[in-house]
Amino acid sequence: MSNAVQRDKNGPGMSAPRTVIVIGGGPAGVFAAIGAKREDPAVSVILLTEEACEPYEKPPLSKAVLTGKALPQDALIAGPKGLAGHDIALELQARCATIDPAARQVVTESGRRLSYDALVIATGSVVREIPPLPLGMPRVHYLRTETHARALAAELKASQHLIVIGGGLIGLEVAASAAEIGVKTTVIEMAPRILSRVCDEETGARIHDEHRRHGVEIRVGTALAAARAESGKRIAITNGAGETIVGDMVVVGTGAKPDDRLAAAAGIKTDNGIIIDEYCRTSDPAIYAAGDVVRFPGPHGLVRLEDWRHAQDQGAIAGRNAAGANVAYRSVPSFWSEQYDLYIQGVGWPAPDRLRVRRPMAGNSMLAFEFDGTYIAAALGINAQRDIAAARRLIERRIPVDAAALADAARPLNDLLKAKA
Ligand SMILES: Cc1cc2nc3c(=O)[nH]c(=O)nc-3n(C[C@H](O)[C@H](O)[C@H](O)COP(=O)(O)OP(=O)(O)OC[C@H]3O[C@@H](n4cnc5c(N)ncnc54)[C@H](O)[C@@H]3O)c2cc1C
Repeated sequence: MSNAVQRDKNGPGMSAPRTVIVIGGGPAGVFAAIGAKREDPAVSVILLTEEACEPYEKPPLSKAVLTGKALPQDALIAGPKGLAGHDIALELQARCATIDPAARQVVTESGRRLSYDALVIATGSVVREIPPLPLGMPRVHYLRTETHARALAAELKASQHLIVIGGGLIGLEVAASAAEIGVKTTVIEMAPRILSRVCDEETGARIHDEHRRHGVEIRVGTALAAARAESGKRIAITNGAGETIVGDMVVVGTGAKPDDRLAAAAGIKTDNGIIIDEYCRTSDPAIYAAGDVVRFPGPHGLVRLEDWRHAQDQGAIAGRNAAGANVAYRSVPSFWSEQYDLYIQGVGWPAPDRLRVRRPMAGNSMLAFEFDGTYIAAALGINAQRDIAAARRLIERRIPVDAAALADAARPLNDLLKAKA
């Protein structure tokens, strides 16, 4: 337990919470439930998920699940014994319909009322639907859940031509998976280049080349203009350049938005996500929140992240605090993506106008840093796991480095960790 923990944050005379309810079966919810139980084994913890299965990891859904190398249930978030193995009550198909903060109760869609002493909301994100391709349109897929992934994988196997809308991480992972199983794929990206939100130009260009090498066609700088069903179970997409592409199916990877509706309806402060403080507390002191659904204080103001590690780490802190701790959440954001044999990772807080330092790397590896003259602010790498792990520690510990050392491949980054912060 960290030194920052103060057990009696409720103040003298107030009893510690006895029941913690967690809403949401993603990594934030599962780690919140486990965190609460670890913080105080006497607390009874209930996790409500609207889904019908034990909580599973989402990252494989766009990768190994689509290529048929894994099933969603192969990677359970709580480990092979599931949440029961942590003495947590899991309620499946228990969609929470409302929160009654005055009564400290949640009401499920089936009408059950459950009382809590502390509540953690971890309802995650929902896909960003685009009007020409609504959810439920035949041959159109969005990817967020294992149900989506199963349907997508089954249709992909029977397809010859896939069209992907969006050249972001999820769209490109789906494209890489489709190419791997021999499905011709065309990606349409509105921005002038792929991955413009997460990668610098050079790294993005390297990834673009890899897609080209695998036969994936990527059209950049052109938006989706229209879509229509074609005969023979096909679908036609017209882009902004007036070009029509006919495929067997479409995957829409245009991002996600926070699912903060439940919180907003309960009067909890939201603004493009649930607003929380550094202790993961919402505007209601008995209610915490974590993961994709929140906006929390970062170094440049309130920030929302959609990455697995953040969801897990912040969830654990929210759960611990809900069970009586008082730990601040400090994060160094990170993401990873797997496309072909490229393992792409980013860590840190990127910002414009920073010095960019590139480290020469052998083979198909790449590594670049954003540097503020004293500290690494962010790092981006391809097949550079060990260096990214070292960069993460340099950022977390705020160890000063110099640009020449970062650019010198003969100086292992781990050596820089020995310098004093
Ligand atoms: C296909 C895919 C691939 C990804 N790959 C990567 C990757 O490679 N690397 C990476 O860093 N990140 C990746 N991510 C992102 C990462 O998975 C998310 O950031 C993470 O899942 C967020 O966790 P969360 O717990 O906040 O929300 P979610 O995982 O969205 O979980 C929210 C849960 O709450 C449930 N829920 C919502 N409302 C209710 C309600 N009212 N009642 C009960 N339950 C409810 C939902 O059904 C869901 O199970 C990927 C995401 C997807 C979809």
